[in-house]
Amino acid sequence: MTQANDNGPGGPPKLTALVVEDSPPMRKMIVFALSRVRGLTVVEADDGVDALRRIASTKFDIIITDINMPILDGLKLIKRLRADEAYRDVPIIIITTEGAEEDRQRALALGATSYITKPIQAPQVIELVREVLGLAEDRR
Ligand SMILES: [Mg+2]
Repeated sequence: MTQANDNGPGGPPKLTALVVEDSPPMRKMIVFALSRVRGLTVVEADDGVDALRRIASTKFDIIITDINMPILDGLKLIKRLRADEAYRDVPIIIITTEGAEEDRQRALALGATSYITKPIQAPQVIELVREVLGLAEDRR
């Protein structure tokens, strides 16, 4: 029995996202939202150090990262990614709390592409990721 292949010619593009978030429920929510973007494979990291470990073995097309994390925070992660030739132009979306205007400004100055403000709304995450990756909205 054969299975339909969603990624065949003319199918959705094969893209990979890395979600970096130390809070498991928050991470789960973002991953769940992104599971609705067709053609997108999602990988999770618990903090900046874990993220660096993962980018060493996989080339991601987009990175969605929290700012406040232990060990290596989102701002340091952005700095490290932008200094890496392979990640100089890869879109980075940051997740910040509503009051954290300073973090947002610092992240954007370090090269973040865009941001999402907590509390996270799944449709907002999906829309922004599609927009940043240049994906058309699914029609179904
Ligand atoms: Mg956090």
